[in-house]
Amino acid sequence: MTIEARQIGFRYGHTPVLKDVSFTLAPGQFHALLGPNGAGKSTLFGLMTRLLALQSGELFMDGQSLRKQPADAMRHIGVVFQQNALDMDLTVRQNLMYHAALHGLSRREARKRGDRELERFTLTERANDPVRQLNGGHRRRVEIARALLHEPSLLLLDEPTVGLDVASRANLNAHVRDLCAQDGLTVLWATHLIEEVRPSDRVLILHQGALLANGEGHAICEAEGQPSLADTFHALTGADQS
Ligand code: ADP
Repeated sequence: MTIEARQIGFRYGHTPVLKDVSFTLAPGQFHALLGPNGAGKSTLFGLMTRLLALQSGELFMDGQSLRKQPADAMRHIGVVFQQNALDMDLTVRQNLMYHAALHGLSRREARKRGDRELERFTLTERANDPVRQLNGGHRRRVEIARALLHEPSLLLLDEPTVGLDVASRANLNAHVRDLCAQDGLTVLWATHLIEEVRPSDRVLILHQGALLANGEGHAICEAEGQPSLADTFHALTGADQS
């Protein structure tokens, strides 16, 4: 799925938090939305998922306007928010089935897709455990599995590794990259951590509501005359990751 953001602007009250943000996401690619805390990443996600109403600019999903045909466009999006949105007292499988029902899947189809995702996320053995018993890394996997149940073509993840240890973070990041390659999913992964971004990724650097760079990581470094993405990020935003 191709996503186009055209001159997105957004204010909370009188404070502008997104300024003239335009970009295109290419189908089947992993994109990193990199920005320090407060850059406007969650606000952008809010607009892309319609939690927030567009104020200025347009968003298109495969050419369909999110403003004019919201239901059609939203059907193709899966979302993992920063905050855990699972029911802790339900089992892993119950969480998946509940989400599938919300999307109008039959029980049979939901079960089939749920089993497939659990398998891919190596969660099959935990299917009947209450989510409360899972560690943070596994909970996040359940959330991603759930977000994929209705077979979206765009997966949005807003700082999905917050609260995870270094190994779980790397694991989750690698897993989503695999899905992207396997399924041809378009992924937008928001983070403030440079270690989750590779120079071969499509990288969008957001700072104080403005998109400062947009392109392949290597190309951005070259354009900025910097030896690494960390240096580029520091040069553009002043944020230090060392
Ligand atoms: P990020 O996800 O990159 O950390 P956010 O989109 O959460 O950035 O925040 C962007 C800016 O908007 C910040 O300055 C933040 O304080 C402000 N902001 C976020 N949510 C609200 C809100 N509900 N009301 C007012 N200001 C907000």
